[in-house]
Amino acid sequence: MRVYLHEITEQGTELKFGQDDTWAPAAVARADEQSPQPRKGTRPLEGRIFLRKVDEVVVLDGNLRTEVELLCSRCATPFALACSPNFQTLLCRDPAMAGIAHVDKDKQGRSTGKVVGRLHGHARHAHDFEGQDQKNADLDITYLAEDWIELGDVVTEQVQLLVPFQPLCEEGCKGICANCGADLNKGRCACSKLQKNSPFSALKNLRVPASHS
Ligand SMILES: [Zn+2]
Ligand SMILES: [Zn+2]
Repeated sequence: MRVYLHEITEQGTELKFGQDDTWAPAAVARADEQSPQPRKGTRPLEGRIFLRKVDEVVVLDGNLRTEVELLCSRCATPFALACSPNFQTLLCRDPAMAGIAHVDKDKQGRSTGKVVGRLHGHARHAHDFEGQDQKNADLDITYLAEDWIELGDVVTEQVQLLVPFQPLCEEGCKGICANCGADLNKGRCACSKLQKNSPFSALKNLRVPASHS
């Protein structure tokens, strides 16, 4: 979904999208991890993006509720993680402006629409504000190489920012046995009887010759 800069006004435009707008689920799917069992059916997806122009800068506000398909880092089971990014990004065609700046806020914490702050640096990403104090938060300006904004790219990036480094199918996932490959969430394997006491007892046999005095 491409929005051309000349279509964006100072009053702004709100775009709502959902699972039936093919570009949106495709954009979320780019953040999925490759699964041997691809997801069946449609994923829940509901989002909105508000675009407005402030001088030479495009202010993009948005939020999104969806699910991303991940593989558990311990047991490799595919699972869906609820993902609801809430974001604000500044975009600009002028490379000199693409630096550190932020949208000014009034006493009620509402955006005044004025972009203030130092304009230097080369940082690329806007911050994710979910659950954070938005007051006076610095926002980077992303340089736009074209005279349009690809909303799919914005959605993919915002979902990727919320994908954990080591996703877990559930908080206490027991993983798979390193010895026999059994899924330990489904019960203990025979190996646990061999390894008395501690799951690390096998490490006793792996001791590196120590340099004692
Ligand atoms: Zn797991
Ligand atoms: Zn085992």
